[in-house]
Amino acid sequence: MRSPSLLALDFDGVICDGLFEYFQTAWRAYCQLWNPDKTPPTEEVAQTFYRLRPVVETGWEMPVLIHALESGFSEAVILQEWPNLALELLHHHRLNPKEVGAIVDRIRDQWIAQDLPSWLSEHRFYPGVIDRLKATENFVIISTKEARFIRQLLQEQGVEIQDDRLFGKEKQRPKYEILRQLKPHYGTIWFIEDRLKTLQMIEKHPELTDVELFLADWGYNLLRDRDIAQQSDRLHLLSLDQFQRSFDLWS
Ligand SMILES: [Mg+2]
Repeated sequence: MRSPSLLALDFDGVICDGLFEYFQTAWRAYCQLWNPDKTPPTEEVAQTFYRLRPVVETGWEMPVLIHALESGFSEAVILQEWPNLALELLHHHRLNPKEVGAIVDRIRDQWIAQDLPSWLSEHRFYPGVIDRLKATENFVIISTKEARFIRQLLQEQGVEIQDDRLFGKEKQRPKYEILRQLKPHYGTIWFIEDRLKTLQMIEKHPELTDVELFLADWGYNLLRDRDIAQQSDRLHLLSLDQFQRSFDLWS
């Protein structure tokens, strides 16, 4: 593989670990929906939530995941059955994804409006990634998080990123579209993402066949996802250790 002329990176689960923020927001939404007697959450439920975070695809599932854990569903059952189980639990409580998603968004928005520093402080950078970014000449970030928060989090680490290098939630476009748009301007693009389904979506686009796709094994994915990436002809499984090394050691 030739070295990339552009490195494209997802943010959450690749550069930045937002697990604490996810859990705090999810817990607040769970409390609003289910009014549990015991607050605050136990460390055990937090730790189990962190491990199961990869099963969550959309925001509304987060409080439902906590509800499942508090109702006694085992980690193994949740890993196997999650998409159906999540919907069953919703229907059982006469809820729907849209209204639960709106509650999650509102709780997060209120938190950000009332105390931005505390919200930002629930984010951590994976070891070594900031140094790697500083050492990378050409990179863009493609994320479903709002650009203004990404910019602020990176600024705190001494990384400045220009507007045309940051594609956040407000762009409202799928990641494959953004890659397609970037392609004519850059030769070889390498893209790192922690969600297998996003990479599989990109794989379906014939005009993106020369984009090298990496699954970040340190992000929010499961062993079964990493196995698929490892066995794939097209995808590369990348470790945090490799990520910090030179490009010729990435595969
Ligand atoms: Mg991600």
